[in-house]
Amino acid sequence: MERGKRIAIIGAGISGLMACKYTLEKGFSPIVFEARSGIGGVWSQTIESTKLQTPKDFYQFSDFSWPPAVQGTYPDHTQVLEYVQAYAVRFNILPRIKFNSKVTCIDYVTSSDADLLSWDLWGGSGEPFSPSGKWHLTVQNAQNPSASAATDQMYQVDFVILCIGRYTDLPNIPDFPLNQGPEVLNGKMLHSMDYAAMDDDVATALIKEKRVTVVGFQKSAVDIAAEIASKNGASLCSCRILLFCLNRFTELMVHKPGEGFFMWLLAVFLSPLLWIFSTSIECYLKFVYPLKKYNMVPAHKFLKQISSCKFTVLPANFYDRVKDGSLYLKKSQSFSFCKNGLMVQGESRPLQSDIVILATGYKSEEKLKNIFRSNFFHKCISGSSAPFYRECIHPRIPQLAILGYADSPSILYSTEMRSKWLAHFLAGNFVLPKISEMEEDVMEWEKCKRSDAEESHGRSCVSTLLQIYFNDQLCKDMRCNSRRKSGFLAELFEAYCPNDYKAVS
Ligand SMILES: Cc1cc2nc3c(=O)[nH]c(=O)nc-3n(C[C@H](O)[C@H](O)[C@H](O)COP(=O)(O)OP(=O)(O)OC[C@H]3O[C@@H](n4cnc5c(N)ncnc54)[C@H](O)[C@@H]3O)c2cc1C
Repeated sequence: MERGKRIAIIGAGISGLMACKYTLEKGFSPIVFEARSGIGGVWSQTIESTKLQTPKDFYQFSDFSWPPAVQGTYPDHTQVLEYVQAYAVRFNILPRIKFNSKVTCIDYVTSSDADLLSWDLWGGSGEPFSPSGKWHLTVQNAQNPSASAATDQMYQVDFVILCIGRYTDLPNIPDFPLNQGPEVLNGKMLHSMDYAAMDDDVATALIKEKRVTVVGFQKSAVDIAAEIASKNGASLCSCRILLFCLNRFTELMVHKPGEGFFMWLLAVFLSPLLWIFSTSIECYLKFVYPLKKYNMVPAHKFLKQISSCKFTVLPANFYDRVKDGSLYLKKSQSFSFCKNGLMVQGESRPLQSDIVILATGYKSEEKLKNIFRSNFFHKCISGSSAPFYRECIHPRIPQLAILGYADSPSILYSTEMRSKWLAHFLAGNFVLPKISEMEEDVMEWEKCKRSDAEESHGRSCVSTLLQIYFNDQLCKDMRCNSRRKSGFLAELFEAYCPNDYKAVS
């Protein structure tokens, strides 16, 4: 394999850094474009109180442990950022990064007149590179975005790894009927992204003695609500919860894509155990947290939630703040704005608010789509909710991979495995199957994910219960042993974590 091939990595969050590390190790000289002036992505710009919600043993680079000084299970965002920075230094990634360089457009240009739709094999050959196809990148100086397009720089590369992150940049602001949107609010409305970007003292001044409502139920929402409650005022949110069950025994209880008859039978036979496991956790959570008292019992079963990667670890003393009245929870399916605050579904009086913070997520699919120039690739991405082959390759988009877009209980862990897999692929250690086979595989995984997850769930997420099975497939492609424990019992009952794959590179 020709290591002289040019690889561009877009984004220097954890995904971009890992993509860079593993391609460097395979002898390539990737170039990383980062729109910001520093690395770390979401961890470089978040609210003061944000902590990791994945236990740190699972959110750990396989060959670079957390420093002993970091003691707790859930490090805070500064510790995460420092850890990520130390990783970049340790593996000499920083010299590969071009900071303040925003890639505004990527365009696939091929000198052959091949019709992309007529290909049987990815890129025509199933291999990572093609002699005739190149990606053209337009790169803007992010420090001077209003400069004329003539100052943009152009790059030509053989392969693109998109690591642009799904939890930044393009906020999702819901649409409202006429006269029921934020324009009618006397106070101020902002998105959680804008709140997170504020300096702590500016944020404190903004909310001081104000009635603040936070809309949302995921991590950002509960963090912001708890942070504001510790400073002043009442807030609104609801919660979801996480737990890990990453061992092969629990995996036997669920149906898997491509399972044979025996595995199917075993899953049917063992499924009552899964029900008992899920129900016990629900009972435990109801016992530990006053969910019923505050009408916060989730509508979906615990199992559905973890299969949808929808879980939130609550900030410390969250329910103490609810109890002392500094945090007020309200469950609602929909809301609209009025002069004095929010009208919440099923209530006749407005929820008085001076400030409304929408922690309503990001338009991640649109962000991904927008970076491509071609309409054909727009169509490939649209409505896909990012279901990719091995969670990183779109069967119809050649010479390109996407990392960090599929959800998982630990994005670092799952993205590192995919980075290793991708580096093996780029190094020519295997070729991709036919496009039709990849599409079939994607469909099969999608069917499985949908049957496990909430019906309304829009994102692609390999269920927590299928992480090991998914990693097994990556290992098989890379031709390395997927059984990484010593002994039958350890293999069956011990949780798998990044460390188990340390030797895979
Ligand atoms: C508050 C919060 C808490 C979280 N907690 C957890 C957790 O506990 N466990 C977990 O697994 N996950 C968590 N996540 C998810 C988190 O997003 C991932 O764990 C991970 O950090 C994502 O890394 P990434 O590199 O894929 O994306 P990002 O961190 O978003 O990085 C993307 C980078 O790409 C750059 N970029 C984007 N577009 C361009 C462009 N066009 N040109 C150049 N550069 C570009 C951005 O500037 C950014 O630096 C959390 C997310 C948030 C917001």
